Amino acid sequence: MLLKILVGFLCGATAVATENNTAHQGPVPLLLVSFDGFRADYLQRFPMPNLKLLYSQGVLVEQLTNVFITKTFPNHYSLVTGLYAESHGILASSMYDPVSHKHFTTSNDTDPMWWSEAQPLWLTALDSGYKTAAMMWPGSDVVNRTATHFLPYNSDVTFQQRLGNMTKWLLGNEKEQGVMFAALYWEEPDRSGHMFGPDNNTAMGKALKEVDDNIGLLMSELNRTGLWGRINVLITSDHGMAQCSADRLIRLDDCLHPDNYTQVDLTPVAALIPNKDPKAVFDLLNKCHPHMTAYVKKAIPDRLHYRNNERIQPIILIADEGWTIVHRKTDKLPRLGDHGYDNSLPSMHPFLAATGPSFRQGYRISSLQSVDIYPLMCHLLSVPAQPNNGTLTQARCMLAAETCWDVPLMVGLVVGVLLVLTTITFLFRFLSYRRPSGPRPFQRLQVDDDDDDPLLE
Ligand SMILES: [Zn+2]
Repeated sequence: MLLKILVGFLCGATAVATENNTAHQGPVPLLLVSFDGFRADYLQRFPMPNLKLLYSQGVLVEQLTNVFITKTFPNHYSLVTGLYAESHGILASSMYDPVSHKHFTTSNDTDPMWWSEAQPLWLTALDSGYKTAAMMWPGSDVVNRTATHFLPYNSDVTFQQRLGNMTKWLLGNEKEQGVMFAALYWEEPDRSGHMFGPDNNTAMGKALKEVDDNIGLLMSELNRTGLWGRINVLITSDHGMAQCSADRLIRLDDCLHPDNYTQVDLTPVAALIPNKDPKAVFDLLNKCHPHMTAYVKKAIPDRLHYRNNERIQPIILIADEGWTIVHRKTDKLPRLGDHGYDNSLPSMHPFLAATGPSFRQGYRISSLQSVDIYPLMCHLLSVPAQPNNGTLTQARCMLAAETCWDVPLMVGLVVGVLLVLTTITFLFRFLSYRRPSGPRPFQRLQVDDDDDDPLLE
């Protein structure tokens, strides 16, 4: 028994020592991977053996609260800046800038003007003297704002090809050092989610099997190149997906003629500039449909962090979950699945899985803000974080080198101990009260008044 305790103590001491050694060895490379449109509950609905194997050796964050609007470009920029959309300036997939009078679309996105309100991590890490890489991550092929290595967006490049480049860049060669921060983007399961809708189990099952196969490929490629276990890996996504329906269409033309406004974006968050009489335009839109909320810019709720930017238009309309905004009566449902809705909806939330030498093993947390991933990555890389909306408070619990108190568990333990102590005290008093009183064990020594020292008699 004593031997067992001693062995246990020595093992424990070794574990602590290893942990401290890891902490003092300096940062290891970090690979950030995004599978676009990976809704958090796909993890429960579909078998994902490779992804489950990955996070069983690390950490799973079951739901990430992402940023509004829950679209691809704003959220990918938030992941690498830690900022809400109003602070980093990438507010939607379609934008209009009233100062420069320029228009932004996802296929016309390389003008640095749009991206310069924030600095992505691949640039901050470059400033710290590291090599970096970004593979088709939104905003990574912008003129003068690229990582050391990058490839311009091309949907024909397969996951395997993207991964092959990434591992080469992570490894480096005789001439060039390996990269310390690498960001890799893949289009699925977003594409299938739009096409078939997230409720289509057959189609989504097939898409997620392919995503999981790609995660398997990633793990085996990192193993083959000797990178597995030597680098930190984060697998996450930008947003979830809601099921849409032809029965849930909101037709703007039913409420007012399109000549009354200029449309910058349409669904599920419309951005409109009234052409004349803003109040009359707003009033008509405000009572247009019970499943659509209209806001003038200054009344957009604080919690959405979507007000303080010139690129936010005077009127925005937010459709309820699964509703689609269209123009005419004849307009058909454009997509069976969509995202962009309120970021408090669980269907809009993605997940986060983390593994590598810096992370705890077999650990789970139920939720985290997606803006907290940026300070976590800066901490992992020992890179000074730019001003951001995130915090390390919760994310640091994912790290092996941190001691974290589980507050609800601690409160539960304290309450439990107090209850047990109170019960024992009560029982003790109760039993003492009921016990019949016997003869007193000692009696006072009786002495005569004139006896000076009775004990010496
Ligand atoms: Zn999408």
